[in-house]
Amino acid sequence: MALSRLGEFGIIERIKNVLGTQSSDVQISIGDDAAVYKTNSRTWSVITTDALVEGVHFDLSYTPVYSVGWKLLAINISDIAAMGGIPRNAVISLAVTDSWSEKKIDQLARGIADCCKRYSCDLIGGDTVRSVSKTFFSATVTGEVEPEYCVQRSGAETGDLICVTGILGRAKAGFHILSSSQKKSWSEKTINHFLYPEPRVKEARMLVKEVGINAMIDISDGLASEIHHICSSSGKGCIIYGDKIPVAEELEKLFYRKNKPLFYYAMQSGEEYELLFTVSEYNLEKLKRKKIFQNEQISVIGKICDRDNGLQLIYDNKKISLPAEGWDHFKKSG
Ligand code: ADP
Ligand code: MG
Repeated sequence: MALSRLGEFGIIERIKNVLGTQSSDVQISIGDDAAVYKTNSRTWSVITTDALVEGVHFDLSYTPVYSVGWKLLAINISDIAAMGGIPRNAVISLAVTDSWSEKKIDQLARGIADCCKRYSCDLIGGDTVRSVSKTFFSATVTGEVEPEYCVQRSGAETGDLICVTGILGRAKAGFHILSSSQKKSWSEKTINHFLYPEPRVKEARMLVKEVGINAMIDISDGLASEIHHICSSSGKGCIIYGDKIPVAEELEKLFYRKNKPLFYYAMQSGEEYELLFTVSEYNLEKLKRKKIFQNEQISVIGKICDRDNGLQLIYDNKKISLPAEGWDHFKKSG
């Protein structure tokens, strides 16, 4: 089968199928934001890896090299956050072409170092090789999580409320402006949101420690796609209310003439690095008392239901199947 039909998740599934059983120390394996294994009984270790490829994830004709360095760490740290963990250490692999200058290496290193510093993560090693055509960067980040705070994609319960941090669509708007020549007076903040994502480590820790949540994922491929992951991992269905999705005002400025409702753009915006989580009604009351909720930095956008109900989207008095569109490297549906 062509990889474009198999898709990214089809490829992962095939790899998963040929692997044998794993050691009993492994708590969470392929299929979540990061893997978790037992190191001692008080804390478990979390590990994740993500790559950035020139021409696929970034285009150096309009992306600062510093941003590529920042993102390389940020996207991994976001996966540690999605498990409820705290980032600790990182190793990186760099495949660079001969044409790279010392200045570019310094800028890349500064982006990596600043993100590490911001999230108290130590860069402790890596590998550097030559690439013949495009540059390629990969980072592996480890972290820690207490067993009682570790949260998975698969923990959603029927009746849970589905919530999201922040507002969605800024990354899409930022990318749109950055990659086109139509800069606006308001564009700098929006572009920076896309170039320098800020993983929600603090917010995730608050959610797992002070509220108690059932399932969580970070939004790297788009809200719609991540809701599908939570529902399929948990064996559940859901109802999403389109008008409850927090939409960035920049989307209105950029896409108001289009025929799709604006929340659609917000739902399909990848690289947001916000958190999508599910929480019981009881614990939602605890969350409502938190400042972060009162400041409208968390929105309740839907409800988990039994699998038989499917995944539904309600808006404008219409009920339709929740589209699954998100970013898939091989299906190019982003
Ligand atoms: P995320 O978007 O959170 O980074 P991915 O969609 O990249 O997650 O990956 C989903 C799951 O599949 C993760 O558990 C990841 O570790 C696993 N995975 C992805 N690619 C591979 C691979 N080539 N081999 C083994 N596991 C993989
Ligand atoms: Mg993730």
